[in-house]
Amino acid sequence: MVLRKTLTDAEITEQRELIAGVFKMTLHAPEIARTAKPGNFLQVKAAKANTLLRRPLGIADAEGDNISLIYRKIGKGTAELAELQQGDIVSILGALGNSFDESFKNPLLVGGGMGLSPLLFYAQAHKNAAVLMGGRTSSEIFWEDIFKPFAKEIFIATEDGSKGEKGFNVALLPKLLKSGKYDGVIACGPDPMMKKAVDIAREYSVPVEVSLERRMGCGLGACLSCAIDTANGRKKVCKDGPVFKGEEVFF
Ligand SMILES: Cc1cc2nc3c(=O)[nH]c(=O)nc-3n(C[C@H](O)[C@H](O)[C@H](O)COP(=O)(O)OP(=O)(O)OC[C@H]3O[C@@H](n4cnc5c(N)ncnc54)[C@H](O)[C@@H]3O)c2cc1C
Repeated sequence: MVLRKTLTDAEITEQRELIAGVFKMTLHAPEIARTAKPGNFLQVKAAKANTLLRRPLGIADAEGDNISLIYRKIGKGTAELAELQQGDIVSILGALGNSFDESFKNPLLVGGGMGLSPLLFYAQAHKNAAVLMGGRTSSEIFWEDIFKPFAKEIFIATEDGSKGEKGFNVALLPKLLKSGKYDGVIACGPDPMMKKAVDIAREYSVPVEVSLERRMGCGLGACLSCAIDTANGRKKVCKDGPVFKGEEVFF
């Protein structure tokens, strides 16, 4: 499906700090909300930004005329976004990129950190997805409450053992896939987590998709700054991705 890309100013209808340094921004963007698919992302900057480049952020949900983004304040661009309030305007380009495979009957979503954001949109749209989430500590599992209304099952691991199993989320994956309940894995998070998810899913012959995060300039395939080598040749993460088949990617 060819997505229609819109460059538009959008009003912030809500901006909330979920935990220290992580924000949920909801935008009035009817055209994008109607056409966006799970896996798509936006290029975003404050309308009166000091930064030249927009920053890529995955769409976390689309409801009615609104879309939401869940983002961590990292550097200059996201700090400018975090200062905005309800009623302020952002400049957005989207929806961009390809989308996840929604044909799985019983998908298992594997997410770490902010990688859970685009997976939320998937869980919301699919309604039969289970989620395996991971974070360093229990405060990073604020996602559990957000996913609850949409996810069929939620499995949790934290590195310090303060919530769920102790360790990395992917350590739970072999047992879950061995059950034979899941017909697809969709992973988004740090590269080492996704690499492990791909290796394990392939071991159990379950199809796996990953959503890659690379620095990008334009988001439209023109600047080539997000180009990567894959098993199927050179690809642009912004245009050919961000979603790739697990076996395509050289981690
Ligand atoms: C498809 C996609 C989806 C994402 N979704 C989310 C999400 O849902 N939530 C979330 O928290 N994070 C997400 N990220 C990560 C997010 O984009 C970064 O955290 C953000 O861009 C950091 O920007 P910053 O200005 O705050 O930080 P900085 O590290 O200061 O900014 C990055 C710096 O790199 C520069 N830069 C950016 N692109 C290039 C380039 N191509 N070449 C050279 N320099 C460049 C910028 O100008 C900037 O100075 C996503 C990334 C991608 C690619």
